[in-house]
Amino acid sequence: KKITIAIDGYSSTGKSTMAKQLARALGYIYVDTGAMYRAVTLYALRKGYISEKGFEKEPLLSDLPGIDLNFRYNPDLGYSEIYLDGENVEKEIRTLEVSNYVSQISVVAEVRQKLVALQKDMGRNKGLVMDGRDIGTVVFPNAELKIFMTASPDIRATRRYKELLDRGALISFEEVLENVQKRDYLDSHREHSPLKQAEDAVVIDNSSMSQQEQFERALSLAEL
Ligand code: C5P
Repeated sequence: KKITIAIDGYSSTGKSTMAKQLARALGYIYVDTGAMYRAVTLYALRKGYISEKGFEKEPLLSDLPGIDLNFRYNPDLGYSEIYLDGENVEKEIRTLEVSNYVSQISVVAEVRQKLVALQKDMGRNKGLVMDGRDIGTVVFPNAELKIFMTASPDIRATRRYKELLDRGALISFEEVLENVQKRDYLDSHREHSPLKQAEDAVVIDNSSMSQQEQFERALSLAEL
């Protein structure tokens, strides 16, 4: 029987890596909800709604209904990539610039409303692995399996730093650590659907677990 799997947790805990592995092993669809908040942030940056002067919410709110977000399956990669108004923005949304602003966009109630509605809609069919911050609490409170991932900030920043270096970014470890900690704080303290562990979530602290160990743990939970 196919189920819905909700994976939540702090930034850079390896949620998406594990979610993708799980989806592949189970033949499920994988949805990265962070990519949706990142895409709206990219949109706001491109339009100049976010700048040194700050963030102008009003123009973003009036554009919001017309912003088209879509996932399209890429058979070469084995998962779906995000499209913003028809353009594949999978690469552009992963920069430190987007990471630095995304928590300001994800606090906006109207943005959350739109994205949560899209996410719920994608869950009409079972056989779904979705990762984010509020999947087990808000998007799918009835998910059959909820996993909450955590790890020490240092370990998470180290992983994210390596990833960004591999992509050729010119940044320091301190910048990445600061971003990870700031995002955790903002995500956990915002008014609307803050990041928090669902009561019935299984916690995986992967500070000292290999990717394979985490995956096996999650797979055994999914197959119960
Ligand atoms: O998962 P990722 O790190 O790509 O998410 C980027 C940001 O998007 C988070 O820091 C958070 O502010 C926001 N987010 C959210 N709710 C989700 C997924 C992501 O608020 N379900």
